[in-house]
Amino acid sequence: MKKSLIAGNWKMYKTPKESVEFAKELVKNTGFHDDRDILICPPFTSLLQVSEVVSGTALKLGAQNVCFEDEGAFTGEISTGMLKETGVEYIICGHSERRNIFGETNFVVNKKVRKTAEAGINPILCVGEKLEERESGKAFEVISSQVRESLEGFKQPEMIVVAYEPVWAIGTGKTATPEQAEEVHAFIRNLLAELFDKNLSESIIILYGGSVKPDNIDSIMLQKNIDGVLVGGASLKVDSFTRIIDYKA
Ligand code: PEP
Repeated sequence: MKKSLIAGNWKMYKTPKESVEFAKELVKNTGFHDDRDILICPPFTSLLQVSEVVSGTALKLGAQNVCFEDEGAFTGEISTGMLKETGVEYIICGHSERRNIFGETNFVVNKKVRKTAEAGINPILCVGEKLEERESGKAFEVISSQVRESLEGFKQPEMIVVAYEPVWAIGTGKTATPEQAEEVHAFIRNLLAELFDKNLSESIIILYGGSVKPDNIDSIMLQKNIDGVLVGGASLKVDSFTRIIDYKA
């Protein structure tokens, strides 16, 4: 059975001490589930300590970014090898904040996705259109280029997770309607079938992200092609993230 994935992206919030306290609280509230995996992605500086807290629990660990090189003169960057030792099982690649604030292109995201999977870590490839692209009818064109270019030459499709995160819905309180999200997810699933293989595309996890909250999680998770969520703001509080983890299937 394909498990859903409920992932929390802490962005640049929580010091190592705050992260450990938060992770301990979350561990108390979160048991193992047969039908869903739970992932938290703290800042780099918290990974090692949080790793000790979540070891042997239902919480998996992920990172928010990675460098596309193994080592060298890349000041301020972090490699897959460094992340692997902290115990991460997932790395978010090409989040819209990385693309739009730090200028990451599909070409760069492609190198990150490949490097991540080569290290035996699951890449979470983020794609999503901006408001003006949706309003000018270009959403599907943008998403198609992001998926195709970010996965060009990618040979480990069984490791990939795709996150559809419309930029206009991230941190804005505006959510795509479940139907709007489902339409894009079905489109992405078809693209993946074209790029890889039909059966395999059915098994790929496609997450929705963009102002997911306790009051919309249940209707989002009812959609056929939505296999989980990537949650920013609402993953920073134990009660809201716990309610999202406990979505009604
Ligand atoms: C995100 O960080 O990926 C995100 C979707 O944020 P938020 O849930 O706050 O919109």
